[in-house]
Amino acid sequence: MRQKLVIGNWKMNGNADLVVAHREQLADTAFTAEVAICPPFVYLHAAQHHLADTNVALGAQDASDHAEGAYTGQISAQMLHEQGCKYVIIGHSERRAMCAETSEDVAEKFVQVQAKGLIPVLCVGETLFQREQGQTQDVVVGQLKAVVARCGIKALAKAVLAYEPVWAIGTGKAASTEQAQEVHQSLRQWLHKQDAEVAEGLQILYGGSVKPDNAAALFSQKDIDGGLIGGAALQPEAFAAIVQAAS
Ligand code: PEP
Repeated sequence: MRQKLVIGNWKMNGNADLVVAHREQLADTAFTAEVAICPPFVYLHAAQHHLADTNVALGAQDASDHAEGAYTGQISAQMLHEQGCKYVIIGHSERRAMCAETSEDVAEKFVQVQAKGLIPVLCVGETLFQREQGQTQDVVVGQLKAVVARCGIKALAKAVLAYEPVWAIGTGKAASTEQAQEVHQSLRQWLHKQDAEVAEGLQILYGGSVKPDNAAALFSQKDIDGGLIGGAALQPEAFAAIVQAAS
């Protein structure tokens, strides 16, 4: 039985006060799911302080594909480790689209993150055009394959996978439970062919317009092990309700 996991991705929103608001809201919430929040880099230090002695973990929204050096503006996995991060989101569709990150770049980030003992949260997902062309399976498996080719299948034993259909992110139009489960199942089936133990153990999160009113139905699906939450992670009450739905 896989543990449910809920991760909040604030994107370029929020501030240190929002960490405190989440801490207080979650302190009043009974939950059994694993929970993490991923504020922007500059709030990680304050967040580490505010979340000490809580059961809310800290994550980052990205990491460099290099260990150190002349990479102005980038943040290394070692730095994130020092700020108390447990998780690092990599391959988010916004970065793939806006920063032209390729699946090979994402695989290098995966390497860097794991090298520092952090858990990569690998995002995969198709655009609406790709879905309409019937390419969903090929796209998401292709994005996953790039990491497996670089790191080996066993590396996924210490990672989290997030299926985030691009057309559902920030649009208010979540995938239906059937659509999400279908893709999660196909990802797990592909993994099964590589390594059954890894496939069974891997937490696969769904992300894309998860809200308190659709979370429970999504999380009840056999292959959906929690959520990667964007917009609703900016509202402590809504986020706590989603965490409860996973608990
Ligand atoms: C995300 O950015 O990863 C995300 C899932 O956003 P939203 O929940 O707002 O769709």
